[in-house]
Amino acid sequence: MSGKRVLTEPEIETVFRRLSEAMPGRTVTAKGPKDQPDPFRSVVSCILSAQSRDANTRKAVDQLFALGRTPDQILALPEDEIAAAIKPCGLYNMKTKSLKKLCAVLIEEHDRKVPQTREGLMDLPGVGRKCADIVMSFTFDADVIAVDTHVHRVCNRIGLTDAKTADQTARQIEENAPEWAMRDGHFWLIQFGKAVCVSRKPKCGTCPVNDLCLFYSATAAA
Ligand code: SF4
Repeated sequence: MSGKRVLTEPEIETVFRRLSEAMPGRTVTAKGPKDQPDPFRSVVSCILSAQSRDANTRKAVDQLFALGRTPDQILALPEDEIAAAIKPCGLYNMKTKSLKKLCAVLIEEHDRKVPQTREGLMDLPGVGRKCADIVMSFTFDADVIAVDTHVHRVCNRIGLTDAKTADQTARQIEENAPEWAMRDGHFWLIQFGKAVCVSRKPKCGTCPVNDLCLFYSATAAA
């Protein structure tokens, strides 16, 4: 085992360069799973996506937006109607309350507009770092590496970060990634996590960064 917990700056640069050569970037996968052109729909989608599969989240969002498309319209809906519409995404009673709070705050404090900064987004009820970064990246086209479960796993296996939680990974990757990788980094990492560095049985033998990966060197030495 190397004993290092995080790769050096040049090593991190090399990892991103190789990932950029092996994986599609933002332009190819512009329509990510949570991509929503309307900022309000994007935030709602993110809140509903907690512990839900993408297909179930999409169904819940579609059913909800068939009932109302604005904060005022959704706030006016009875809770049981919202809960029934979003049932496919699970945790629907809790998420119904979050949606109601979100709509009220947008109306009362933000003139019905979704804030366009990470900090502003994270001040909204039910919106954490991951959700804020996904909205920033997908909806506001910001150069942000949003960290979901795949990105979190890959970053910490390779040694791009040394973090326990996805939020810590997000903070560390923002510091550790080269500037040029911020725009497409999320897309390279997520595709890589789905195709190569999968949760169970990662394909280390044919992985383009296995000579640098701390997880691989630790398992090879074990
Ligand atoms: S060597 Fe294995 S663990 Fe490391 S990045 Fe590649 S697939 Fe993932």
